Amino acid sequence: MTEATTGTVYLVGSGPGDPELLTVKARRLLEEADLVMHDRLPGKEIIELVPADSRVDVGKRAHGDRTPQAEINRRLVEQAQEGKTVVRLKGGDPTVFARGGEEMTHLADHDVPFEVVPGVTSATGGPAVAGIPLTHREFASSVTIVTGHEDPTKGESAIDWECLADTGGTIVVLMGVTRLPEYTATLVEAGMDPETPVALVERASWTDQQVATGTLETIVEACESVGIEPPAVTVIGEVAGVREDVLAWLEGYE
Ligand code: SAH
Repeated sequence: MTEATTGTVYLVGSGPGDPELLTVKARRLLEEADLVMHDRLPGKEIIELVPADSRVDVGKRAHGDRTPQAEINRRLVEQAQEGKTVVRLKGGDPTVFARGGEEMTHLADHDVPFEVVPGVTSATGGPAVAGIPLTHREFASSVTIVTGHEDPTKGESAIDWECLADTGGTIVVLMGVTRLPEYTATLVEAGMDPETPVALVERASWTDQQVATGTLETIVEACESVGIEPPAVTVIGEVAGVREDVLAWLEGYE
């Protein structure tokens, strides 16, 4: 018996959640792959596009834990070596806060052919569907995407919030619901105008999308009253105020 030819692993981005924001290629691969390894972020509607017998949830928490990354890496290689076409499906884009880099390195180290299929990241797509541009000729010429996962007050954060406060550009925070009070306060302490507009878009592009708007000073309260919960993307900067101007128009079409 000849050994199976190693299959290809596709690292696929699902976009922010609306199935119509999947790329044509992602959609085809979801339907054709022998195995789709996904986490929860892509959402039920997208995951259900995959035949039930070819999907496996690797985001499932056993005893409160996610499947360890090393275990996912090992399974990707194992399945490909059995000759399968494998899709590793991630929310948004597979290269933005999604450990796609580690998976690529691991696959390369094991001589497994792979391809990255980019998706619409929530970092840009999330604000976009809520009517928030990330750059604007008048207000912002740069965008920085950061994780809000780390505590900015602990002094061990890999993010230089003081420096960010100085860029004058837009700041986008992913995984930034829990620590919203800390990093907004840190930015104000670092010299940012407390009146700087801020918006959070929860479950962007889903039918139950929610948006909270305010300023660095008021956004925590605004989020509480709207009931914002993860997953949500935070936009900090003058561009977050543009939404107010287009809101009437947006609502007219909703
Ligand atoms: N790879 C993903 C990001 C994964 S990190 C991407 O490119 O979008 C997980 C974070 O992404 C969440 O905490 C949240 O900040 C953001 N996120 C993902 N999907 C989202 C959505 N539909 N609406 C708002 N934020 C989302």
